[in-house]
Amino acid sequence: MGNAWMARGSCREVDPELFFPTSGRGVNEAKRVCASCEVVTQCLEYALAENIEHGIWGGKSERERRRILRARRVDVRPYRRLSSTV
Ligand code: SF4
Repeated sequence: MGNAWMARGSCREVDPELFFPTSGRGVNEAKRVCASCEVVTQCLEYALAENIEHGIWGGKSERERRRILRARRVDVRPYRRLSSTV
């Protein structure tokens, strides 16, 4: 995945500190910017693929991204088991 999408992010005109919040209120402010971002999907997938641990990416907090990764691992395991028997 290239990084050209980054130039189109809604956050490019916002203080980057906003995306590294220290409170729930700060998280919500960052998420509000992400909500109107045209590259929110690319941003989230990038953060998941790169295992970025800190900050708000793709409108998701660190905890939310960990949950997504866990859910994807659970979804993938049965497929691997099936495909190894074919
Ligand atoms: S989704 Fe949020 S963090 Fe990602 S590029 Fe858009 S505004 Fe920036």
